[in-house]
This record gives sequence, structure tokens and C-alpha cells, in this order.
Amino acid sequence: MNIHEYQAKGVLREFDVPVPRGFPAFNVDEATKAAEQLGGPVWVVKSQIHAGGRGKAGGVKVVKSIDDVKKEAARMLGLTLVTPQTGSQGKEVRRIYVEEGSLIDREFYLSALVDRETSRVAFVVSTEGGMDIEEVAHSHPEKIITFSVDPATGVMPHHGRRVANALHLTGDLAKQAESLVAKLYKAFVAKDMAMLEINPLVVTKGDKLICLDAKIGFDDNALYRHPDVVALRDLTEEDPKEIEASKYDLNYVALDGSIGCMVNGAGLAMATMDIIKLYGETPANFLDVGGGATKEKVAAAFKIITSDPKVKGILVNIFGGIMKCDIIAEGVVAAVKEVGLKVPLVVRLEGTNVELGKKIIADSKLNVTSGDDLDDAAQKIVKAVKGG
Ligand code: GDP
Ligand code: MN
Repeated sequence: MNIHEYQAKGVLREFDVPVPRGFPAFNVDEATKAAEQLGGPVWVVKSQIHAGGRGKAGGVKVVKSIDDVKKEAARMLGLTLVTPQTGSQGKEVRRIYVEEGSLIDREFYLSALVDRETSRVAFVVSTEGGMDIEEVAHSHPEKIITFSVDPATGVMPHHGRRVANALHLTGDLAKQAESLVAKLYKAFVAKDMAMLEINPLVVTKGDKLICLDAKIGFDDNALYRHPDVVALRDLTEEDPKEIEASKYDLNYVALDGSIGCMVNGAGLAMATMDIIKLYGETPANFLDVGGGATKEKVAAAFKIITSDPKVKGILVNIFGGIMKCDIIAEGVVAAVKEVGLKVPLVVRLEGTNVELGKKIIADSKLNVTSGDDLDDAAQKIVKAVKGG
């Protein structure tokens, strides 16, 4: 789960991490009040969307009067921002953040994430902040320093010194870096974060190290123990199909392709997506209906797939084990009865209760093509989508 920048800064503030003062605003009036409360003389008006790259797209403005705060607030609210991270359709700005301005001397990059390779929290640090870190990683990999923290010891002073060295900070600024790293690590672990990115981390003209931008992603599997974090969820930022899927506890991820997939088992779902690509089409989603799915859950999943206008064909691929083929068949038939079927459907059933499953589909008189195996089913759906 992701949250907005102003919320992320709120979380960091709980851990005494230095961030500029600021207030969120949903309209121009609130933005004006926020600006008055902050007092100036410099303010930053920032669009709040779940995507970076706002600065270059006109979503972050430094201004020097309350009139300009009003003007920028009016311009940004309701605006659709298109950045390299939003996709071509962009994201609508529904809230903004008004912050006190900072005088920047230097901009750095710092992030923390769960590193699967070491099974530890890893830090990534670079002097090349503010800009595209992927670009730095590509053209100047030597400018990116990473290290991981042993969970048995937790964060140690030498980790802080490592960051200070990497950023060429000395004296009091090095001390600030050490204290910052300790606080960020504490926040990361306490809140079960999956990713924490500060870009830019800045040194001000007054020699203060502060977090000017903040992005946090939380581990969804740990949200149950963080009701305060769940309360920060902004559903308008999420794909409606994924929200619907989460109500039914389905493992669903929306993608950009044309073939909707309903599969049991994450591995089989990945293999199904691969084979669709192998035959020249692209999957519209990842979906693992799981082992203990009911007919209702299967029907809900099928409806989510058909609600996607990008879906030009559907492939159901079930290897019945704990999940029985007849349950899948009943769910598919129920969903089609309710919402209809406007695109080709190929079904491949194998395993537990396969005969019963096939009979349910045959009796329903649905226009279904059956696949003998995964290879055959994938070729049939790709052909149907390309031909139709
Ligand atoms: P992003 O483009 O979505 O990552 O948004 P950021 O919050 O990182 O802001 C983009 C850029 O705006 C930063 O890299 C800074 O250069 C600039 N910026 C943000 N806040 C301030 C500020 O208080 N003062 C100044 N001078 N520049 C700022
Ligand atoms: Mn940024």
C-alpha cells in the first residue's frame, strides 16, 4: 500500500525525522489558510498523487506570495498530471500540500527497502539526488552506494558514518546523517515498510539535513497490525478493479494487455502469462484464485476480468487440486449469466472433478472453446483475439 507525500512526512515526523512544516489542502481556501499559518516568505505548493516526477510535470512550485499560493493551488487542483510514473492517462490532483520553502544547498538521494537477496533492510545512497535515480544507476553506477543492516544488531553508528561518507558530509552534518539513518531505520521496521524513498534529501544553506520529498510503500501482509496506516489509504489512487478484488481476497494485479486470465496457483498464473506472451499477445491481469475459492469468489473474479475494457479474450486455466474444476465451472457460468460474455473464452480444465466441470460448462450452452492443455489453450485464445 502506498501513501501520499504529506502522509509519509507525517509518519516520519512521528520518529522525529527532520521534514519541513506543511499542511495538506483539498481546496484553495485551505491552501490559503495553510500558507498564512506557515508565514512564508517562501512556500512550496505540491500536487499529491501516488507518483513521482511531479516537479518536471509542473506539479511542484516554489512561490513567494500568498497570492501565488492561491494561484498555484487553483491551477493544480483538478489538474491531470502526466509524469513518467503515472502512465499516459495521468493522475488527477485531488489534494495538494503547502509547505514552508527551503533554501537548498545540495540535493541527495536516499532510500531503504527490503532486499530479497540478503533478506535484510538495505539502504541506497547517492550524491546525485533530485533527478532520476534509474538514470544514475544506468550511466554512473559507481555513484550509488548500497549496504544492508543485520537485523540481529539493528542499525549501528557505522551505518550512519557510511552514509555521511557517501554524501561527503563532515562535522555536524555527518552527525545529522548518522542520527537520520537511525531514525529512518527505526521507522522502517516499526511501520513494516517495504520501501522508503527520500529524493531529494537536502542540505540547506543553514546546514540542516532535511527530507524534502518522501515516498513510502507498506508491506500489505503486515497492514493488519497497523490500523493507523490503513487509515491513510486513498482509494481514488488505486485501480478500481484491484479494490474490488481485495474485497474478495483475490490475488489480482491489473496489467495493460488484452487477455484476461483466471488461474489457480501463482506459479501456474505466471506460466500462463508467459505462454500468452510466447504466442504473441499480452496478459490483461495476473489472477490467482487460490485453493479455497468458492463459487461466489470465482464469479467475482470473472466479473472483474470482464469489466476491463482492454480485455479482448479470456483464458481460464485450472489445474484442479484443492481447487475443484466444478467450482470454477459453476463460478464462471454464474458470472456469465449475470454480466454476459462479449469476448471469446477458452477454458482449460484438468485435475480434480474435471469431468463434472466440463459437464457444467457444456450444459450451460455457453460459447466456450475448450483447450486440451496449457499450450493448446494459449494458442486458441491468442488466435481468437487476433482473428476477432
Ligand atoms: P517529485 O518531482 O515528484 O519527486 O517532487 P519533489 O518533492 O522531489 O520536488 C521536485 C523538486 O522541487 C525537488 O527536487 C527540488 O529541487 C524542488 N523543491 C521542492 N521543495 C523545494 C523547496 O522548498 N525549495 C526549493 N528551492 N526547491 C524545492
Ligand atoms: Mn522527489
